[in-house]
Amino acid sequence: MESRFLVIGAGLAGASAAAFLAEHGSVTILEAEDQPGYHTTGRSAASYIDTYGHAAVCSSTRASRDFFWNPPPGFAEHPLVRPRAELEIAQPGQTAALAAMLETHGAALRPVDRDEILRLCPILKPGIDWSGAINEATADIDVDALLQGFLRLVKARGARLVTGARVTGLQRIGASYVIATPMGEYRADTVVNAAGAWAGEVGRLAGLGDLGLTPLRRTALKIEPATKDGIGDWPFVIDVEETFYFRPDGGGLMLSPADETPSEPCDCQPDELDVAIAVDHFEQATTETVRRVAHRWAGLRTFAPDRIPVVGPDPREPRFLWLAGQGGYGIQTAPSLAMATAALATTGDVHEALKAQGVTAADLGPARLI
Ligand SMILES: Cc1cc2nc3c(=O)[nH]c(=O)nc-3n(C[C@H](O)[C@H](O)[C@H](O)COP(=O)(O)OP(=O)(O)OC[C@H]3O[C@@H](n4cnc5c(N)ncnc54)[C@H](O)[C@@H]3O)c2cc1C
Repeated sequence: MESRFLVIGAGLAGASAAAFLAEHGSVTILEAEDQPGYHTTGRSAASYIDTYGHAAVCSSTRASRDFFWNPPPGFAEHPLVRPRAELEIAQPGQTAALAAMLETHGAALRPVDRDEILRLCPILKPGIDWSGAINEATADIDVDALLQGFLRLVKARGARLVTGARVTGLQRIGASYVIATPMGEYRADTVVNAAGAWAGEVGRLAGLGDLGLTPLRRTALKIEPATKDGIGDWPFVIDVEETFYFRPDGGGLMLSPADETPSEPCDCQPDELDVAIAVDHFEQATTETVRRVAHRWAGLRTFAPDRIPVVGPDPREPRFLWLAGQGGYGIQTAPSLAMATAALATTGDVHEALKAQGVTAADLGPARLI
């Protein structure tokens, strides 16, 4: 029951961090549920968009690119990513927001006119004078293959995953952490808090507070549009002010009202009003009428107050590391933030790929929030 590193949570964050930490010493992962990936990791839009979020998030996403496009040999049977352009759309009242976005992201986005927008996504209403921008370096991510690949690495590197093991107590006794779970007591030199929506709660168990981490519910639904010609090649379409988005998904479309409702950490469920709002935004923007919602779900996106992930040792307890607050970017940033966690735990600095993108340990570290 002793290991050098103990990771709390087996979502994508915990599984990926454990895989890189296992190169440096023994690792135990404790997961509250009976299976990994049950919470936010299993409920995402599965997209890689390197112009989405704060500059530090975009850079962390780009630092993950090489892993997604060139994973280690044997990591997955199929490619982890499938290219899919991201199309930002603006109505006449939103041109200032579009201009601001083009200015922020420079060469990563190309302006597109109404004709090109309608060619890229033929269900958008032809009567609206659309303008927009496209990012062609984006992709769909196979989240399950990514998670399973990291779990295989975890196993191959001798790390241990214990499910049904919710951490209920966390105490520093001498040089060790003593961690209480219903599956027994564990000891470790270093603890990594990768508990997703529960990261604030785990911080409080350690006596370090919650750093202001807030879970926000986001709703998603799946529909079958009437028009399906070429649907597999349509882009990920998002309103420039992020009031809704949709993307092709398994022959249908996934929609989201891009809601952000504060929530307690829980097994969250969609609210019918948010489902109705998603349908309304979609119908206002397209020629489609939604007759049936095939599937609906919701997940918790957990943000720090500055909406930058929190990665690294807590200055008050340097052997307690945070890997939390990934918000709506925890899939696309997972490889680089997991490598950063392992590097910070062992060398005290972030890894070279992240540095090359201009991200420092201080940008991600929890000290900024204390
Ligand atoms: C609708 C939606 C769309 C999204 N779209 C995207 C996207 O397109 N691209 C992107 O990059 N990101 C996206 N995200 C965000 C992404 O899904 C998350 O950032 C990411 O999954 C977070 O992973 P995690 O491992 O931190 O959290 P989780 O997957 O929630 O894992 C945390 C784990 O910790 C466990 N745990 C909690 N407390 C304890 C405890 N006390 N003891 C033991 N275990 C514990 C939980 O059971 C859970 O398994 C989206 C999210 C949503 C909801």
